[in-house]
Amino acid sequence: MKMPKRARSPRLHVSKPRRLMLLTTTTGYQTQAFVEAAQRLGAAVVFGTDRCHALADPWRDGALPLRFENPEAAAEEVRKYARKNSLEAIVALGDRPTLTAARACQALGLPSHPPEASDACRDKSRSRPCLREAGLRVPGFIRLPLDVELAEAASATAWRVGCPCVVKPLALSASRGVIRANDMGQFLVAFERLRRLLHNPDVQVLREETSQFIQAETYIEGKEIAVEGLVDRGRTRILAIFDKPDPLVGPFFEETIYVTPSRLAANLQAEIAQVLERAVNALGLHHGPFHAELRLNAQGIWILEVAARSIGGLCARTLRFISPDCSETISLEELIIRLALGDDISGFHREDRAAGVMMIPVPGTGIFQEVEGIEQARQTPGVEDIIITVKSGEKLVPLPEGSSYPGFIFARADSPQAVEDALRGAHQKLRFIMSPALPVI
Ligand code: ADP
Repeated sequence: MKMPKRARSPRLHVSKPRRLMLLTTTTGYQTQAFVEAAQRLGAAVVFGTDRCHALADPWRDGALPLRFENPEAAAEEVRKYARKNSLEAIVALGDRPTLTAARACQALGLPSHPPEASDACRDKSRSRPCLREAGLRVPGFIRLPLDVELAEAASATAWRVGCPCVVKPLALSASRGVIRANDMGQFLVAFERLRRLLHNPDVQVLREETSQFIQAETYIEGKEIAVEGLVDRGRTRILAIFDKPDPLVGPFFEETIYVTPSRLAANLQAEIAQVLERAVNALGLHHGPFHAELRLNAQGIWILEVAARSIGGLCARTLRFISPDCSETISLEELIIRLALGDDISGFHREDRAAGVMMIPVPGTGIFQEVEGIEQARQTPGVEDIIITVKSGEKLVPLPEGSSYPGFIFARADSPQAVEDALRGAHQKLRFIMSPALPVI
C-alpha cells in the first residue's frame, strides 16, 4: 500500500539580514550615524572595538574586542568571528581601525582598500614618497625619531626641509600637535613642545609604531580645501569639495569652517579631481571612502593628506545624496555602507544646495560650564542645527595639545556665501562660560 503523500508545507524564504561590522574606537555621534544608516538598510550591526567597556549603550550586541594597534591579530579575530557568523561588510570609523578593516576584508574576500594602501595612508612618511614618485606635489619632509638629540633634529631639518616648516606627529589626527615654525629658533621650541605632547600617557596609550616619530615638513602656503571621495572597485569618485574660507597659516591649524560646493573655478575643480584620481591610483586605494586635504598655490595642487576613511566627527552631516530617480535622500554613512555591501551607488549624487559646518573653535583653556545664546544662534537663517559635544565640567584645551572641538554648527542655504554667513552669524551669538582649570600639583 502506498503511503498517502504528505502535503508539502510551503517553504518559508526568510532572508537573513546582511551583517555589517563597524570597527570603531569610540561610541560617539559618528558611530550612531552609521548604526542608524545600517538600520535603515535593514542590515544587522556588530561592533569590533578596542573600547568594549565604553559600549554601555542600547546597541551593545556582543561587540568583538580587538586591539587595533596590532592589525594582523585583530583581523584574525574578525576572520574567526566571520567563520561562525556571516559578515557581508566591514566599515572602519576614523583612522586607527582602517588597517584592521583592510586586512580583515582581504582575508574574507570582501572588496576594500588593500592593507598596503591603508598602511600608506595612515603614515605620512610612507604616503609622501609614493605620491611624489607618481609626479604629484607633496611637501618635502624628514621623519625624526622621538628621542633624537635636539641639535641633530635641527640640523637635519635645516638641511632637508628648511624654513618655514611644520612639525607634526604621525599618529594623531585633527591637526593635534601640528605646529608651524618660521625659523630654526621656533623649530626648536615647536619640536620640544610636540615631543612633550607625544610623551603624554594619553598619547602613548595608542601604542602605535608611528607615535615614536615626529615629521618635519616644508610649509606649503596657499588656500586649503578638503575633498570627500570614494573609490568604487578602482574607480575614483569625488563626492564633494569643501572650501575652508578661514586662513590656515599657523602657528596652529585649528579647522573651523567647511563649505561645499566649492567656489573655486570649474577648471581648477576638474584639475583637483584628476590629481586625486592619480593619488588614489598611486596609493593603491581600491574600494571604500577617502578624505583628502590639499593646498593650492601658484605652483599647483599640493597633497597634504589622503586618508582611507570618510570625513571625521559630525562633519558628514553636511553631505546628503539623492538617488538617481530623486525618490530618496541618504546620508554619507548610508552611501558608505551601501558601497561596502557591494550595492550599486553610481547614480547617487550630492544634493544641489550649499551646505557647511563650523567646528566651533576652542574658546580657551579651562573647565567648560555652559554655553549661552544657543537658542538665538539656532534662529540664524540657514542654520540647521547646533550640537555642543563638550560636557559640563570637561576640560577644554586648545591646539596644539588639545584634541577636540566643543561642538558643531550646521547650515544649509542657496549659496556657499549664505552658508558661510549663517555659520559665522550663529557662532557670534554663542558665549562659552568657562572656569579656570586648576593646576595639577
Ligand atoms: P592631521 O592628520 O592631524 O589633520 P595634517 O597633516 O592633515 O594633520 O595637518 C593638519 C593641518 O595642518 C592641515 O590641514 C594644514 O592646515 C596644516 N598643515 C599640515 N602640514 C602642512 C604643510 N606641510 N604646509 C602647510 N600647512 C600644513
